[in-house]
Amino acid sequence: MTQQSQDKHQQRQQKLKEKVDERIANAQDEKGLLQVITGNGKGKTTSGFGMVIRCLGHGMKAGVVQFIKGQWDNGERNLLANIGVPFAVMETGFTWETQNKEADTKAAQETWQAAKVMLSDPNIDLVLLDELTYMLSYDYLDIDDVIETLESRPKMQHVVVTGRGAHRRLTELADTVSEVRNVKHAFDSGIKAQLGFDY
Ligand code: ATP
Ligand code: MG
Repeated sequence: MTQQSQDKHQQRQQKLKEKVDERIANAQDEKGLLQVITGNGKGKTTSGFGMVIRCLGHGMKAGVVQFIKGQWDNGERNLLANIGVPFAVMETGFTWETQNKEADTKAAQETWQAAKVMLSDPNIDLVLLDELTYMLSYDYLDIDDVIETLESRPKMQHVVVTGRGAHRRLTELADTVSEVRNVKHAFDSGIKAQLGFDY
């Protein structure tokens, strides 16, 4: 690299640094955040658990509510429930297996009550509501109730919601929304869900 291009590079980096520093200095607000992780690609639930673990690593308290995943052997629950993380799991299978709307609605409502307990506890710093989106697309839960509960949660409490097809009102309320896009997935090549990788 010539001296001239080295100088140019340095100038560009310096400008970039000033801009980033300014944005960091301007971002002064603090509040509990709502993040929605949606989309058809793999990585939503695991991302949510990444945040749970990040929290625990800081000595903070996290709680987990899982809608629809009860019947699978559950690596995250095996670990976290063992170390005292409050964990509520709805005891029905995946959505495409469910056939009894009344029973599913009842299970969803019960699980939502467990979520509400966490969402009113200021000692819980982060609540993961895994696969909550389907409870709204299937009308198992009332969107007004969900929005109202999220809005009135403790001021500093973070919430992560995962699941495909997030309700518009949920993404509107959220501070951060990420969409995981499916580029390809092993399942499409005939590979079954793998222990420790998929669940
Ligand atoms: P993960 O739990 O691995 O973070 P996810 O939460 O993004 O995945 P879900 O939609 O909740 O994905 O689906 C859960 C299961 O379905 C996982 O075993 C995952 O590997 C699988 N899966 C996720 N995306 C796809 C896809 N595009 N095609 C097929 N299977 C998928
Ligand atoms: Mg998931």
